[in-house]
This record gives sequence, structure tokens and C-alpha cells, in this order.
Amino acid sequence: MSKMEDIQRICLQRGIIFPTAEIYSTISGFYEYGPVGFLLKKKLIEYWREFFVESDDNIFEIEGCTVLPEKVFEASGHLKSFVDPIIQCKKCKSLYKADDFITEKTGVVVEGKTPKEMTEVIKKNKVKCPKCDGELAEVRLFNLMLKTEIGPIGSQNAYLRPETAQNIFTSFKRVFRSTRSKLPMGIAQVGRSFRNEISPRHFIIRVREFNQNEIELFFDPKHPECPKFNEIKNKKIRILTREAQKKNKKSVILTAEQSLKRVVRNEWLVYFMAKEFEFYKSIGIPEEKLRFRHMLPEETPHYSGGNFDLEIEFDFGWKETVGNAYRTDYDLKKHMKLSGEDLTVLTEDRRKIVPHVVEPSFGMERTIVGILLHCFVMDKKRGWNWFKFPAVIAPYTAAVFPLVNKDKLPEKAREIYDNLRKHFDIFYDDRGSIGKRYARSDEVGTPFAITIDYQTLEDNAVTIRNRDSTKQIRVDIDHIKIFLDKTLKSLK
Ligand code: AMP
Repeated sequence: MSKMEDIQRICLQRGIIFPTAEIYSTISGFYEYGPVGFLLKKKLIEYWREFFVESDDNIFEIEGCTVLPEKVFEASGHLKSFVDPIIQCKKCKSLYKADDFITEKTGVVVEGKTPKEMTEVIKKNKVKCPKCDGELAEVRLFNLMLKTEIGPIGSQNAYLRPETAQNIFTSFKRVFRSTRSKLPMGIAQVGRSFRNEISPRHFIIRVREFNQNEIELFFDPKHPECPKFNEIKNKKIRILTREAQKKNKKSVILTAEQSLKRVVRNEWLVYFMAKEFEFYKSIGIPEEKLRFRHMLPEETPHYSGGNFDLEIEFDFGWKETVGNAYRTDYDLKKHMKLSGEDLTVLTEDRRKIVPHVVEPSFGMERTIVGILLHCFVMDKKRGWNWFKFPAVIAPYTAAVFPLVNKDKLPEKAREIYDNLRKHFDIFYDDRGSIGKRYARSDEVGTPFAITIDYQTLEDNAVTIRNRDSTKQIRVDIDHIKIFLDKTLKSLK
């Protein structure tokens, strides 16, 4: 069993992440988070918010609707161009995402090519349906947005948003005014996005409903400086340049300052990239499993001032987990044109401008798979496999065990548990041997296990076992909270 298969098995067994509505025949690309998965995701999002939003006093968070009217996507271009090439078998009707399919079967990279060109590659290489050996139809385009209708007679077309960004653009003017902001200013949003993916796969890597955390950072193109650039200029990041991709070379490590001069050329983009690199390392992804890939010209939209994907190396290869894009003034201008609203702002020197935008777009599901994969410890010595989640995102901070279920130990353990519960996510376990309970606690990545034993009744202290080292120390009951607080802080 591969590492990823083992992780998926644990996710099912422990109810961490599992298919939606699984008591019926499931629809692929939809997953639920059980209690442990929910806590992991919640902590990850809270930590993200602290790291990227609350640390900047010019970034404001909003919450928009997931259903948006058709006009929004007409302006943004999604209606016309949020499409994937699709190919169908004429015989068994199986469907494939054409670009991935062609690259897999022929080794030819067809990203950015037209459906006609893709069809030619298929014909030239005599590719058949892998399921029934049937003939394949022509490649066509398929819009990935999920459509719905508003009102009892379905009079208005609407779509489930395929990204959280568009609410930010449509709300920009009101937020800018109400916060009495000046440029540069950012708007963040954490929420659901929906894409009718042709072939969902790799667990929750490509699903049809997922969480995005996005920030749109608005700035004056005449003043593209990031005021906090000095804070990150010496931080190191790993970049796979366009040249390295062409010549099949490796990624390089550069400081933020070097990246700015040699490759990225926008301070805001580098600022976010440097922070992302720190963030992903702090949630347990090893540095060598992280890189920024400079998107190739054929993968980059015409209006873009630069696109850099943060990729994580998964068991099946590298995959985009955060998209970083310099979107210029493209979106605001498009919305201005279609809505007729003036979305310009007045700069301090009284120029009327349409702000430029840098956007980091984080996918939580891919981030979670990265965490699960890279924090998973296959531990023969211990006798069970476990997750080495950093304390800041661990679903539970601690587990509480009474050594035995008698002699007033459960009462004492409950008392401690009830007190700690007010401050931390913790769980109580009194079933089976202490060894089994350690295993259950490690398996969901709980950093500490607190055992109440006979000595506790005499010295008012408990044994706290460290998940990573398995070392045990005695801590006074009155100091447990301080101990846990201190440990959590030191890990940030
Ligand atoms: P994009 O707008 O395509 O650049 O997506 C931004 C981020 O959203 C990606 O880096 C992914 O982490 C995430 N994402 C996009 N599509 C999906 C999907 N179908 N399933 C899960 N995550 C996705």
C-alpha cells in the first residue's frame, strides 16, 4: 500500500475526510470533513488568517455569496473562457480531460493549444479509448461553471462561483470607501468555490467543491512598492524559472530581493511568495517539497504581469497549490465596462486611476493533502503510523486519559478535561490500555497526552507525553494551561 493510499484509508477509518452522501452511490469530486478533518481545516484557516490578513492592517476580510449573477461572469470572462478541453469515446462514451489525457498518452504537452490542434495530436498518435479501445471524437470545450437559476420560474441565470475573487472585485468600491482606505489596500476572502471538473481525482486534489483563501491586493501602478518589502527581502524561496523548465534544469534558491531583480519583477508578488514559503514550511511541508513555478508564456493570460504557482510535490508529482498572479487592472476595468459603475479611485496626488491587482489564491484542499502526506510518519518502531502535525494546526492539542476507570481517577481526569476544554480542542479517552490510547491519539496527530494516575491524587501533577519524542514529564495541574499555551506559541 502506498503512503497516500494508507493516508486515505486512515481518513476513512477515522472519519477525517470521506466521500459525500456515501450511503448512496457517491458522486465523485465531493468530500465531507468529519470531526478531526473539520478541526484540522478550521485551524489551518485560522492560522492562515493570522499569518496573511491580521498581520497586515491594510488587508480587510469580507464574506461574499457563492451564487452570483451571470453578468459577473460575463464581465470576468468566465462565461466564455473558463473552459477545459474534453474528449469522449464514440463507443463507450467515457469522458477525459483532453489536455491531461493527451500528455499522459503521447508525452506531448498541449496546454494552450486549440481543440483542433489537440485532435490532430490524437489522430497522429492513433490514440484510442483506454477503456474499450474505441475511436475518440473531436476535442471540444466544456465550461466548468455550475449553472443554476434564480426564482420560481427560473427567470435569471446564475452560477456557483468558480473562484472567490469576483466578489472582491464587485465589492471593491464599497469596501475601499467604507474602510476609508488608501492604496495599497487588500481585500481577503475565505470561502467555497465550485468547478464542474471533468475528471476529479487524487483524493481531494481535484474536486468539484473546495475552499479558496484569496487576497486581492490593490495598488497604484505608479507606486508598486510594497511597504513591508524590507521585512522579507532576505527570506529565501525556491523558484523554477522558465529557462530551467525549457532546459530541464532544477529549481534555484534565491532571496526575495534576488527574485525581484532576476525573475518576478513586482514587489507585491515577491512579498506574498516569500510569506507563502514561510507559511507552508511552518505547517509541515519540507522546503525541498515546495517550489514556485514561473508559468510559461502559453499558460499565462494575455493581461497578466506575471504568474507564479506555488507547487507542492505530492506522491504523483508537483501540483499547483497557490496561484499567484499579477492581474493588472484587467478585472476592475472589465466590471467597469459592463456595469457602467465608476470603479476608479483618487490617489493622494489627485490622479484618478484604476488600481492594479496582485492576487495570491490558496487552495485549502491541496494544502491539506500536502500536510497529510508530509506530516505522515510510518513508524515501525512505535508500531503505528501517526501524523506529526505542527501544534498550531493539530486538530486536538491534547488528549486526557485516566490511567484506570476507578479509584477516583476518572473524576479527577474529568475535572482537568472540563477545565482545559474551555481553552483548547482536546478529547477524553478512557477505553483500552494506555498504549492503545497513545496510538489513537498519535494517529490523529495530537501533540500531547495527559495521563492522570494514582500519584496525581497525591502530588496534584499529571504526566504529559510528547507525541514526537514520546518523552514524559510531570506537570502541576495548575500549570497545564500555561505549558500548552507556551508550546503552541513557540511553534508559530
Ligand atoms: P486557480 O484559480 O485555478 O489558479 O486555483 C487557485 C487554487 O485553487 C489552486 O492553486 C488550487 O489549490 C485550488 N483549486 C483549483 N481548482 C481546484 C479543484 N478542482 N480542486 C481542489 N482545489 C482546486
